[in-house]
Amino acid sequence: MLLRRRIAQLVGLVTLASLSHVALAQDKVLNIYSARHYQTDEVMYDTFTKTTGIKINRVDADDAGIVARLRAEGAASPADVILLVDAARMAAADSQGLFQPIKSAKLDAAIPAHLRATPTADGVTWTGFSTRARVIVYDPLRVKAADVATYEQLADPKLKGLLCTRSGSHPYNLSLFATVVERLGDAQGEAWLKGLVANMARAPKGGDTDQIKAVAAGECGVALTNTYYAARLLKSGKPEDRAVMERVRVVFPNQGSTGTHVNIGGAAVAKHAKNREHAIQFMEYLSSPFAQDYFANGNNEYPAAKGVKVDNAALKAMGGANFKAENIPLGVVAKNMTKVQQMLDRVGYK
Ligand code: FE
Repeated sequence: MLLRRRIAQLVGLVTLASLSHVALAQDKVLNIYSARHYQTDEVMYDTFTKTTGIKINRVDADDAGIVARLRAEGAASPADVILLVDAARMAAADSQGLFQPIKSAKLDAAIPAHLRATPTADGVTWTGFSTRARVIVYDPLRVKAADVATYEQLADPKLKGLLCTRSGSHPYNLSLFATVVERLGDAQGEAWLKGLVANMARAPKGGDTDQIKAVAAGECGVALTNTYYAARLLKSGKPEDRAVMERVRVVFPNQGSTGTHVNIGGAAVAKHAKNREHAIQFMEYLSSPFAQDYFANGNNEYPAAKGVKVDNAALKAMGGANFKAENIPLGVVAKNMTKVQQMLDRVGYK
């Protein structure tokens, strides 16, 4: 009888303890606005909550939707962390005052400085947590490998009538062009863009996957794509997608010189974050090897943190496990974006 009462007391204590734990957990929240939508991310979020007791509320939208929502909400916005892809989008949101700078010794140590916003005295606004390379895809029946080894060669008259790209103003191209202009200087950079326009097989249209398919279909001889689109086709369950990748070749450009352009999927702390410390804690978590694996592989990307290895069969298959990456700070995208857009207008790059 005494024993039974003792057990009942113990059970009561355990129940009370777990209830207070739940109550505490509900007090600790983090609101994320995310432009990422990958199944594997759930494990990444759940593990953060399990280890920290911080509950995550997530709003999923596309990049434009997230920016519009943040602007509309203003200081009342509940957003703590913003997840966006591409430095050009990060830079655009940053220039609208939607982020706040942070200081974190952990992030400084884990993430290469060139994959983050240009630091100020107040800290760093956005940080890359995965990378994707912008590679050349070509038709080996129409184009020689030696003629598409660099971005610069895409403007060579040898490739007249063969080049296909998506819109020049798309963030993926704006970012690449911003780093090319940084390397070549304004005059040569604009001449290069003019050369691309002169080599077009058709007016820019569609997304990166459409460019790869157009090369396989013989409509274009050479095109640009982010690596994860090629990886998706390689891994596809549809035989026709895999046939596309068998038909084309992938080149990691500028291996003998400045390296292949890489961009980021990244995160920033929202300007009006109410849970700033949780937000920084979450970003530090994203740089851990465990989270990096999910963050990168969810979209067939590369881990951004130093020392974390690529574990993706499709990326390895296309020769992208070990390549020389460009190390121009992606902060130059913010600096050059408007200038590049004006160049695109002048050279008639749609
Ligand atoms: Fe994309």
